[in-house]
Amino acid sequence: MHPRTVSSSTARLAPLAAAVVLCSTSCTRESHARVATDSARVTTVTTAAGDVAADTTHHAAAAAAGARVPNEMGRIPVLMYHLVGDHESSWGRERGNFRRDLALLYERGYRPVNMVDVLDRKIDLPAGLSPVVFTFDDASPSQFRYIERDGQLVIDSSSALGIWLDFAKSHPGWGNKAVFCMLPAAAAGHAFFGEKNIEGQKSAWRFRKVQQLAAMGFELCDHTLWHAQLNKYSDAVVQEQIARGLMAIDSAVPGYRVRSFALPLGIWPKNRALAKSGSWTDPKTGKTVRYDFDAVFEVSGYPVPSPYSPSFNPLSVQRVKVTGNSLANVLDRLDRTGERYISDGNAAVVAHRQ
Ligand SMILES: [Zn+2]
Repeated sequence: MHPRTVSSSTARLAPLAAAVVLCSTSCTRESHARVATDSARVTTVTTAAGDVAADTTHHAAAAAAGARVPNEMGRIPVLMYHLVGDHESSWGRERGNFRRDLALLYERGYRPVNMVDVLDRKIDLPAGLSPVVFTFDDASPSQFRYIERDGQLVIDSSSALGIWLDFAKSHPGWGNKAVFCMLPAAAAGHAFFGEKNIEGQKSAWRFRKVQQLAAMGFELCDHTLWHAQLNKYSDAVVQEQIARGLMAIDSAVPGYRVRSFALPLGIWPKNRALAKSGSWTDPKTGKTVRYDFDAVFEVSGYPVPSPYSPSFNPLSVQRVKVTGNSLANVLDRLDRTGERYISDGNAAVVAHRQ
């Protein structure tokens, strides 16, 4: 049971003043103009000039958010990223495009949440805004890279995390919420974001990175020990792969409760139940490690149903692979079909459309 009550809220729109806060300091004029196209009431904003225009555009963004009818039974995009770097590829997002993804989502009224927020139905967003879950798979240095500067470790501004933190500085409400589905011991530097001087990353920095992510508010997720394709292995090896991924996270952040697991390549083990729960006994120590996840991430698919919907299945979470224009296309489709989750700004009520 859940304490929130369900009621229709078609007529309830966001108070303008509340939504103004969202863009009070840093939304660009361009972004406001684009947001304004969502709302017929504010299209005049784009032709205004000077301070009046700047002031009015804040109202435009607020109006755009306020004009969105709450729908907390709508779908939530769970995005999937791997490499973030110099080039666009099937498993890579060019970093300029990555930043544009953040800007596109922001302008369209999306704000990041962790998967645990969805699982626990704690999507606490102002009225008119929508949640988006980012997932980053495989723990490459391209996601989180350090640079040594004057004896200090600094997050490389060209890594995904660096881009994210820079974006957040100028975009109020863009929090440190994203899910990192990590490998502690895979090849080619996919070991807690780098090792052995691959991309200049030292092995000694690995735990520190995982700790820093958790301390900043990001969510840690298991992705096996070294990315084993689970349908190729025995039940025992499947459980060992998953449990040792978990053990490594626990070594970095003792006591951290990992709630999510990402299937390598989206491939289920022969015994599907082992993706959710299982155990493995370390032959060296005799210690048994158990796991029991609340969410299992698959690979390609469509935005997931609301956690309030009976069709929400956290043990089969489809993700949107962000490549080319796939993100814009998915957001367009959610708007066109009216399937988009839109918050009502009221934590006590689940808004849904009649
Ligand atoms: Zn992977």
